[in-house]
Amino acid sequence: MQIMRLSDEQAFDMFKDARWPSGVACPCCGGVDQYWLKNRSMWRCKHKECGKQFSVTSGTIFHSAKMPLRVYLGAIALYSNCAKGMSALQMSRDLDVQYKTAFVLCHKLRESLVDVHTEKLTGTVEIDGAYVNKHVRPKNIRAERIDRRLAKNQNPKKRAIIVIRQRSVSGKGADKTRVFLTKTESQNSTLKLALNNIDTSATIHADEHHAYDILHSALPMQRVIHAQHYRGPQGQCTNQAESFFSRFRRMQNGQNHKFDNNYVDRYANEAAYREDTRRLSNGAIFNDILGRCVEHLPSRDFCGYWQGNHRTGEALVA
Ligand SMILES: [Zn+2]
Repeated sequence: MQIMRLSDEQAFDMFKDARWPSGVACPCCGGVDQYWLKNRSMWRCKHKECGKQFSVTSGTIFHSAKMPLRVYLGAIALYSNCAKGMSALQMSRDLDVQYKTAFVLCHKLRESLVDVHTEKLTGTVEIDGAYVNKHVRPKNIRAERIDRRLAKNQNPKKRAIIVIRQRSVSGKGADKTRVFLTKTESQNSTLKLALNNIDTSATIHADEHHAYDILHSALPMQRVIHAQHYRGPQGQCTNQAESFFSRFRRMQNGQNHKFDNNYVDRYANEAAYREDTRRLSNGAIFNDILGRCVEHLPSRDFCGYWQGNHRTGEALVA
């Protein structure tokens, strides 16, 4: 309600302060001298070799924004309050905008949550995988049904999400989560992901799946045998990884319903973000997402989505 009551000027100031806390700067050349073009609601850079015009959203994820700024702030507020994610249809109803607008808006917010990781995870790290888009609907007539356990009868869109979570130092849950899209939960992919993302000083906890057997050769390992217990006698478990999948499944079953393979990595990353920020207040999450949106470059995948600009492939990592 606080967001929706903002006047145009207040929404503009909120956006401007989030983007330039220490004064307006040209997104093209970084120059701090500019003048305000009142009729266009834009600035013009005073740098003599630049001279570009720019608005408060130019060069951010909301580049070439068409709606009042209050609507974008409202979208961030609604989005940050949804613990299990938000569907485009619900966003379109809540904000009273077209479905197509809401679809692109939700995906741009998801894109802003993607981080580029350079440092490796340390301490105690859990790794696990789960499959998405694997369901094959059985035929109506019993005699026409196929054996859905056979590899040849499985859904060709079936993909695996591998999650790696670092347990927090305080011992309460996990606070750093990375997700990856792969074709299968295999030894090749788990080894590659573990070497790229986990420090050699860390201890890995994994379940009894054979895909993790190969990690014994590279890193210290603890295994939990789920057929016998969910937490082993030495405290070995993958419960934090299961927690992530629990949220991810609820997001799919209760909110979004469809995860297209081209974008399923974004949904998984959203669930990871929500899992890591679950103990923050909604105001802190709102400020974090707003900060990410104004710092993020224009979306490569969703600028002009309904004019035909689509991501052409899946973001498979292994
Ligand atoms: Zn400039």
